[in-house]
Amino acid sequence: MIRRKKTIKSTNNQSPLTCKTSRAKPCDGLKNKCSPVNCGENHANPLSISNSLPHLCWFAAPDIDEPTLIGGDIAIKSWADRNADPCTTSGCLWGKWSDGKVYIPYYIASHFSSREQAIITRGLESFSSVSCIRFRPYQNGDRDWLSIESRNGCYSYVGRLGGGQTVSLSHQGCLYHSTVQHELLHALGFNHEQTRSDRDNHIQVYWENIMDGMDYNFYKIDTLNQGTPYDYNSVMQYEKYAFSKNNLPTMMPIPNSNVSFGQATQMSKNDIDRLNRLYKCCKYMGV
Ligand SMILES: [Zn+2]
Repeated sequence: MIRRKKTIKSTNNQSPLTCKTSRAKPCDGLKNKCSPVNCGENHANPLSISNSLPHLCWFAAPDIDEPTLIGGDIAIKSWADRNADPCTTSGCLWGKWSDGKVYIPYYIASHFSSREQAIITRGLESFSSVSCIRFRPYQNGDRDWLSIESRNGCYSYVGRLGGGQTVSLSHQGCLYHSTVQHELLHALGFNHEQTRSDRDNHIQVYWENIMDGMDYNFYKIDTLNQGTPYDYNSVMQYEKYAFSKNNLPTMMPIPNSNVSFGQATQMSKNDIDRLNRLYKCCKYMGV
């Protein structure tokens, strides 16, 4: 509803909630920096997370009202104030209610079609059966909430920011079940699988194949891994050509280079396990 939308005040220096996506394609004018797969074009596998990331190009020419992105789709307010940690130590977890559930208000912008809204809603509701996370529509008085909008690419902040925070699911390349879950997991406090602290035991990074200036997307983070193993099938794992400048792999699994990875179409069991551990969803652990 438009009126209600106007009553919602966006915080954290974000722009008003009205989507001002102006580019016909997220990567127009940036072809020299964007491979087709990164621009969300020529999807070999439309369900693959990394093939639906027009935002990978976004960093090269951010809109003036958009947040800074790291790791392709992780938004930060500035380089200094957030380290993209799962953030259990910095208070960015969403609060749990006395009934043991974590209620997270959301608002879905009206510019999504009914089909797109159905995809988003399915993604939101997919957490209910496997965890204590409950996404529910925004209500007046809610203090913190997700504003799900089609902005310039697919991106999210890591963890709860306080107030309204944007989860961008662009019409162009982000409306897939796996992508919705991926961005919501960021909002819940999770980073990309390939930045895990233990990734060097499971993934070899080919720095020479990475687009110029994009190395930081592969920097390890001192993540809290919740005792779960590295998971090639995590919905948070990019595929092996992510950020490639020469169509050669930027990542390969080790020791077995034949293992497929980065092709998740939905949250893996490990994704769910670590979510339940992070939020202490006791009733759902081991499900
Ligand atoms: Zn991401």
